[in-house]
Amino acid sequence: MKHSHPFWQIIRTVPNFPKADIDFYDITPLLWHVDELINELLNALPDGMIDEVECLATTEARGFVIGSLLSGRTGKPLLLIRKAGKLPPPVHRQSYDLEYGTDTLEIKADAPKSKVLLVDDVLATGGTLKASKLLCEQAGHEVLGALVLLDLPKLHSDIGMDTYAVMNDVD
Ligand code: 5GP
Repeated sequence: MKHSHPFWQIIRTVPNFPKADIDFYDITPLLWHVDELINELLNALPDGMIDEVECLATTEARGFVIGSLLSGRTGKPLLLIRKAGKLPPPVHRQSYDLEYGTDTLEIKADAPKSKVLLVDDVLATGGTLKASKLLCEQAGHEVLGALVLLDLPKLHSDIGMDTYAVMNDVD
């Protein structure tokens, strides 16, 4: 059955936002259900994988929220991937295409090198996660994969890393 996950009853689909012909999935109502949200994120990972993860790499801005909640539950430290100009040098920088527009992300170059799990709310075209992976690698981290709340598989092909999702818009 399409949209079988119970979270579909909670998130909102907003047509034509922020531009015409874009369906925007508003995941913020799930923040009233943080325990279930984090339970489901951890359940989306293969057994034992979280034990291999040394650090969670999260992308501004909704990734920060989900990554912080996951960090609070697991005790894993956080790496912040931010919009350009927010982090003090030294940084690595990567520009990329969005579903709607372009953007530039940065990561601090001097954090301890670790095995990271990328965490974000939505995987759409994959541009954000691909840029985040490149940044982590430029900073010397090893990317184990990416964990998202919602995957939109119709908008991307293989994004070059293992991805784990709580739900998708196909089934
Ligand atoms: P991508 O780079 O994969 O095209 O887009 C993913 C990024 O854009 C994520 O960081 C996510 O926060 C944001 N994004 C794209 N589409 C949506 C959407 O429908 N809902 C939400 N909440 N975020 C989206």
